[in-house]
Amino acid sequence: MNVYDYDIGIVGGGLAGLTAAIQLRKKGYTVSLWEKNKYPFHRVCGEYISKESWDYLQRCGIDLPALQLPEINKLELSSHGGSVLKAKLDLGGFGISRYWLDYLLYEEAKRQGVAVFEGAKVEQLFYRNGSFEILAGSNSVKVKLALGSFGKRSNIDVKWQRKFVAQKPDSLNNYIGVKYHIKTDLPNDTIALHNFKGGYCGVSKVEADLYCLCYLTTASNLQAAGGIREMEERVLFRNSYLRKIFEQSKFIFTAPVTISQVSFNRKELIYDQVPLAGDACGMITPLCGNGMSMAMHSGKIFTNLADDFLQQRISLEGMLGRYAKAWDLQFSGRLQIGRMVQANFGKEWQTHLFISALKYLPGLTNRIIKATHGQPF
Ligand SMILES: Cc1cc2nc3c(=O)[nH]c(=O)nc-3n(C[C@H](O)[C@H](O)[C@H](O)COP(=O)(O)OP(=O)(O)OC[C@H]3O[C@@H](n4cnc5c(N)ncnc54)[C@H](O)[C@@H]3O)c2cc1C
Repeated sequence: MNVYDYDIGIVGGGLAGLTAAIQLRKKGYTVSLWEKNKYPFHRVCGEYISKESWDYLQRCGIDLPALQLPEINKLELSSHGGSVLKAKLDLGGFGISRYWLDYLLYEEAKRQGVAVFEGAKVEQLFYRNGSFEILAGSNSVKVKLALGSFGKRSNIDVKWQRKFVAQKPDSLNNYIGVKYHIKTDLPNDTIALHNFKGGYCGVSKVEADLYCLCYLTTASNLQAAGGIREMEERVLFRNSYLRKIFEQSKFIFTAPVTISQVSFNRKELIYDQVPLAGDACGMITPLCGNGMSMAMHSGKIFTNLADDFLQQRISLEGMLGRYAKAWDLQFSGRLQIGRMVQANFGKEWQTHLFISALKYLPGLTNRIIKATHGQPF
C-alpha cells in the first residue's frame, strides 16, 4: 500500500503550474508545487496576454480590474522595408509583467494552502509502482498524480532525452529570446510587432508606465554578430521603427533577460505516464501572442481530469487518454498554423511582401489572428 506525501505534485511554477495548483487546491486536494527559481523573478516573455484568460485568472484569485492594467486591442506589424499593417484585435488582451503576475499567483497559491517549494530544482520525476516521485536536492516526495509544467526546455527534458532536445537546428528551433522593460512614448492600446532579418520584436505596455520590449531571433544571428548589442545595431536597427524605439527609450534593466534553445517543434504530451502542460508539451510561436493563455488553458484541462482520477471515476490510463484527446482538440490546429506563420517570418523580403499583401486583405489578417487564438475558458 502506497503512502503519499501529497495528492498532487506540480513541477514548474510558471503560469500553467501556478494556476493548476490553485485550482486543484480549491478542489480540496493537497498540492505541492516545485519551482527552481525564487519569486518574484523576471522571465523572457512579451507580456501581452490574450483576453482568453481574463475570466480564468480571476477565478484563480487575481482581481484584474483592481490592477488597472492597459487594455490592448490594436496590432501594428512592420517589415524591415517600412511596410506597416494595422489591424484591430477583436478579442484583444492586456499587459502585465510576468514578474508581477507570477508573484500574485504565487501569493494566492500559498494563501490557498499549496506547499510551494521555491529555489527547488527537480532532478527526477517519474512514475513507479502506482505513484509519482519527485526528487529535488534532499527532498523526495511521493504523490498520487504529477504534472510536468516545466516550460520550454528544462533539465528534465535533457534527462528524459526528449526528441526535441536532440533535433538538429531547423526553421522551428534554436531561437533565442531577449527582453527589456523600457520607458517610452508609444500608444497604450497597441501591440507592435517589428520584423527584422531572422526575427521579430514585440513592444506593448505593461503596468507602472513601463513597456515590455521582447524579441525572438535565431541563434545564428547572435553568433554572427558576436554579442546582443552588436546584433541589435547591425540587424534589428535595419527596421527604422526599431531603431527609433531603441534610440528614444529609457532602458530599465542594466542587462536584458535572455533565453536560448527555444524550440517550436512538436513535443510529447505525456512522457512515461507523466502528463505535461504549457510549453512543456508544445509551444506556440510568440508571433501569435497567446502562449500564456494556452499554458493556463492546458493546466485547466488537466485539473478537471485530475479531479476525475483522484475521485477514482477514471483510471490513470483513462485520464491520460482523455487529456491527450482534449489537448489535441483544443490546441493542435492552432500550433500548426503558428508553426507555418513562424517558418515564413524573419525572411526579410518574404515578410515584407506578406505584410504588404495583408494590408489589402483585412479579411485574411482577421482569419489568421482568429485561427491562432481561442475563446475564453
Ligand atoms: C520571446 C518570447 C515572447 C513571448 N511573448 C508572449 C506574449 O507576449 N504573450 C503570450 O501569451 N505568450 C508569450 N510567450 C510564450 C509564453 O511566455 C509561454 O507560452 C508561457 O510562459 C508558458 O508558460 P508555462 O507555465 O508553460 O512555462 P513557464 O512560464 O516557462 O514556467 C516554467 C517554470 O518551470 C520552472 N522549471 C523548469 N525546470 C524546472 C525544474 N527542473 N524544477 C523546478 N522548476 C523548473 C522554470 O523555472 C519556470 O518557472 C513568449 C515566449 C517567448 C519565448
